[in-house]
Amino acid sequence: ARAHLDPTSIEYTSDKQRNAVAALVQEFTVTPQLLKDIKDNFIGGMQKGLKKDGETLAMIPSYVMGRLDGTEVGSYLALDVGGTNLRVVSVHLTGGGHINTRQTKYRIDESLKVGDAKALFDFMAVCVDSFLDEHEIVVRGDSQIELGFTFSFPVLQTSINRGTLISWTKGFNAHGLVGKDPVAFLQDAFNRRHVHVRVAALVNDTVGTLLAYAYNHPETVMGVILGTGCNGAYIEKIPKIEKWKGGAIVDEMIINMEFGAFDKERTILPLTMFDNKLDRKSVNPNKQILEKMIAGMYLGEITRNILLNLIDRRLLFEGNVSADLNQMWTFETAYMSTIEADNTPTLHVTRKILESTLSFSSTTLNDRQIVKTVVELVGKRAARLSAAAMAGILEHTGAWKQKAAIGIDGSLFEFYPSFDTDIMDGLEEVFGSEVRQNVSLGLAQDGSGVGAALCALLAAKHASKDAS
Ligand code: BGC
Ligand code: MG
Repeated sequence: ARAHLDPTSIEYTSDKQRNAVAALVQEFTVTPQLLKDIKDNFIGGMQKGLKKDGETLAMIPSYVMGRLDGTEVGSYLALDVGGTNLRVVSVHLTGGGHINTRQTKYRIDESLKVGDAKALFDFMAVCVDSFLDEHEIVVRGDSQIELGFTFSFPVLQTSINRGTLISWTKGFNAHGLVGKDPVAFLQDAFNRRHVHVRVAALVNDTVGTLLAYAYNHPETVMGVILGTGCNGAYIEKIPKIEKWKGGAIVDEMIINMEFGAFDKERTILPLTMFDNKLDRKSVNPNKQILEKMIAGMYLGEITRNILLNLIDRRLLFEGNVSADLNQMWTFETAYMSTIEADNTPTLHVTRKILESTLSFSSTTLNDRQIVKTVVELVGKRAARLSAAAMAGILEHTGAWKQKAAIGIDGSLFEFYPSFDTDIMDGLEEVFGSEVRQNVSLGLAQDGSGVGAALCALLAAKHASKDAS
C-alpha cells in the first residue's frame, strides 16, 4: 500500500525543524531533469564499458549465448552465493516450461565473509554435501552432478565456468580471492571432500534472473536485482560489444553490467554527507557508489545517519538517541518497508518499531512523522535512481519501443511499498506514457537459482555443439 506523508502537512515543533526537513527534501529529491541526466551519463558509461575492460561500468560478457524455449529437460544443482543467505537448489526441468525446485537456505556467518576465502568455499562445499544427503541425491560410480554456481560479485568471466574476482561487495571481504577464479576454489573444495559435483557454469545473479524469467516470458530483455545489492544484466548484440574477441554461435549475449559501480568518479549522482559517511565506514570505500544509494544492505544505514544528524541538532526525539540506534546497521531496511506502509493516523506501527524494536523510551507523533518522511525520501530516491539505470538500458537497446519484460528479484522490489510504481513513474518521465503499455516489471522470485541451472544446461548444449 502506498501511504506517503506530505511533509508540508506536518506540525513542526520549530522553524528550525521545518527548515531541516525542507533541506532534506531538496537534497534527496531526484528531479525529472536529474533523472534524465543520470540516465544519459549511464548510457555513456555503458558505451565505454562495451569498448574495453576496466571501465566503471564493467559490462562483463557472460558467455551466455542462445535462448531456451522451455522444452529442455534435465536435472541440475544450483548454488547461490552473494545475498543474505546461501542457497542450494536442485532444479528439475520436465519440459513444457515446467520447473520443479527443492531448496535449502544456509546462513553465512559474518566471520566467514571476512575470513579466509578457502574457509568460505569449504563451507559452501559442506552445504552442498549436506544438501545431497538431506535430499538423498545419490551419485553413481564416477559420474558427477552438474552445478550452476551463482556467485553474485563482479567477476570478469573468461569462459562459461571460469573467471576472476574483480572485487568483493556487500560486506564480503574474504581474503585470497581477488584476482583468482572462484570456480577453481569451489571445485577444489568439492574435490577435497569427495563431493561428486562439477561446476559447469559460473553465473551472476542478474544473468540467472534474466534467464529464469525469459524461460516463461520470451520478451524478457533485462534481469535486475534490487536486494541486498543491486545490478542489472541485459541482452546485447554481439557487434556492439566491441571488446568481445571470442567467437559467436548466435548474434547476442547477456551482459552483466555491474551497474552498482556506476559513477565511481562522483560526477553525477546526488551524494549527500550521509552517503559519504556510509561509504567511508564500509568495507569497500569508494566502490559501488550507486549500489550504496539503492540497495537494501544500505538504505537503513543511510536513514540512520540522517536520524542521528537530526538528533544531534536536537530536532528529533528531543535530542535523545537510543542505545540501539547508536549502533551501525541497526536500522534495517525491512523497518523502512513497514514504516512506508504505515498509514495509521497516529503512526502506531512506526511507533512500535521505534519503541519496541529500537528501544526509544517514548516518541511523539511529530518524531514519528519526521522518521517516516526521512524513510520515504531515502526509499524514493533509491527507486528513482533504479529507474534512471533501467531507463538507460531501455534507451540504449531501444527495447522500450516494443513489448519488453524486465525480471526483477530481490527483497526491495518484492517487499518495499511503491518501489515498482516509483520506477514506472520514472520510466514514464523519460519515455512518455506509452512505456507503460510496452514495458512490464515482474517479480522473478528466486530466479538466480533456476537461472544458474539453466545456464549449466546451456553450457552443456554449447559443448555438444562444439564437439559435433
Ligand atoms: C554485485 C553484483 C550483483 C549485485 C546483486 C553487487 O554487489 O557486484 O555482481 O549482481 O550485487 O546481488
Ligand atoms: Mg539473491
